[in-house]
Order: sequence, then C-alpha cells, then structure tokens
Amino acid sequence: MLELKISGLSKTYANGVRALDDVSLTIPTGMFGLLGPNGAGKSTLMRTIATLQEADAGSISFAGIDVLKQKDDVRKILGYLPQEFGVYPRISAETLLEHFAVLKGIYKSKERREIVGALLRRTNLHDVRKQGLGTFSGGMRQRFGIAQALLGNPKLIIVDEPTAGLDPGERVRFHNLLSEIGENVVVILSTHIVEDVSDLCSNMAIISGGRVLMQGEPLEAIRNLEGKVWRRVIAKGELETFQQEHAVISTKLVAGRTVIHVFSETQPDPSFEAVSTSLEDVYFSTLRNVAAEEKAA
Ligand code: ADP
Repeated sequence: MLELKISGLSKTYANGVRALDDVSLTIPTGMFGLLGPNGAGKSTLMRTIATLQEADAGSISFAGIDVLKQKDDVRKILGYLPQEFGVYPRISAETLLEHFAVLKGIYKSKERREIVGALLRRTNLHDVRKQGLGTFSGGMRQRFGIAQALLGNPKLIIVDEPTAGLDPGERVRFHNLLSEIGENVVVILSTHIVEDVSDLCSNMAIISGGRVLMQGEPLEAIRNLEGKVWRRVIAKGELETFQQEHAVISTKLVAGRTVIHVFSETQPDPSFEAVSTSLEDVYFSTLRNVAAEEKAA
C-alpha cells in the first residue's frame, strides 16, 4: 500500500504570511480530498508536494522517497494538474500531449503514439485531437490536463482545484474520469467545493489558515455529526439574534428564504427540524468551531 506521509510541514512567505503551520497528514492509496476555503494553504501544500516550491520545515515521504530532497525521483512518479493550466492555443491536443510525453521520458515514437492515443481516448478527446487547444471548452481543457497528468503511469497524482469554472455536466464527466483513475495510486484532490470531496473521496482533511483542522473518512465524520444538526427557516432580519443564541454553522438562501443550520446535541426548540447531516455540515461546523475557539482565546 502506497502512502504519502507529511510531518510538521511549515511555510512562511517573504511577506510574512504563514501559509502552512505544522501540517501533518497521512494520505493513503485512493482518492484523498483536501478541503479548505480560499487562502487556506492548499495550493502551497500541493506545490510543495509537487516539488515546485520549498518548505521551511518538516518532511514528506512517499514510497521510500524523501519528497523534499529527491525531487527528480518524485517527478518520475508524479502527475500534476495545476490550478492554472496554461495552454498554447494553436497547438493541437495531440501534438502537445506528444510533447509532454517526450518530457516525461517516453522517447520511442511508436510507444509514445500508442500511449498518447490511449490517453486521448480515455479522456474522450480523441475525436478533437487535431483541434487547437484554444478551441476547447473549460471541461475539455481539464480533461486534457488529466491526460497530461496521467502520462508515464504516475503513482502520485495531484489535482489542484479542478472543477472551478466547469458547468455541471462537465463537472460530472470530470468526476467520472477522476474516479476511474485506479485504486492503486494516491490521488490528492484539492478543492474548496464540498461536493467534489463528498462525491469522490474515501479520505479527506480540512485545512484553514495553514492548519489541519480535521482528517479522516467523510462518511465517518458525517455519522459522528448525525442527529446534532438542525434547520430552521428564518426571516431576513433575524440572523443576528439566532447567531447569538445558537451555534449557527451555515446560512443559505433556498428559494429566496434564509435557511440556517445549527449545531446542537438536542433539538433547540420545536421550531427546528432535524436534518440528514451532509459533508457540508461537517465542513462548516469544523470551520466554525475553530473560529469560535479563536474568538474565546
Ligand atoms: P489556497 O490554495 O488554499 O487558496 P494558497 O496556498 O494559495 O491557498 O495561499 C495561502 C496563503 O498564502 C494565502 O494567504 C495567500 O495569499 C498566501 N500566498 C500564496 N502564495 C504566496 C506567495 N507567492 N507570496 C506571498 N503569499 C502567498
């Protein structure tokens, strides 16, 4: 079983922002969701694992490789889909993928053609392989990004904020593609979208402010919260009062009405109804607990 082990990783940028604060995570084989709000430190962590930037302290190991030191060894087994995937608009998908394959060390042209063809088919881009990447939709570009990340059979795949900007149909296709990647590799999916994690990931962590707030299995985290989340429709002006009296974990507009979710061991009062807990409740209650602790400290 492959496992990525991160211990005590810290990073402070030159401007004083502490993007990673003593991060320790054990990431098993399969799909792992790294969930956190914008600015949480996800990209910093992803880029550090992908050997694109240095940490100040800590260590990362994977399959016997010291990730922070043996960068060339990491790059051989790594597939990386960055947040911003810059493409050359006039180059065809096939030509660019061929080019990336050469960079990955796939030098034999017959073998390369076969691998590139198979990846284009797998990502459903074979019919459009001669088209310039500039003509691709966001979803097609993301699928191309996955094709390039899968070159060379990586054992560690990092996907940074993949579904931002995809329409719902494209998102589903992208999810299906990701979930087919195979069970024998480590896939880290960094995202601020809770559904990406609840749909795809068997393990997860929540990070915020550079710190790990929670790690474990989504289903177990949901189970632990079951029976403790309550919902109520409130009037527009009532939010502040409810926030003072209850542990409000989220506020949502549903069909023009404000719906709040509240954390409570027991039913706060008969005006609240029980909800079937979701990962969104886990996420928002985790973020809220930390905010409340920080306020108290
Ligand atoms: P996320 O991917 O979760 O949105 P990032 O890792 O991009 O988070 O950023 C974490 C924090 O570090 C943010 O406060 C961000 O503004 C800051 N940051 C990111 N990159 C740099 C950089 N190159 N220089 C200075 N600050 C940065």
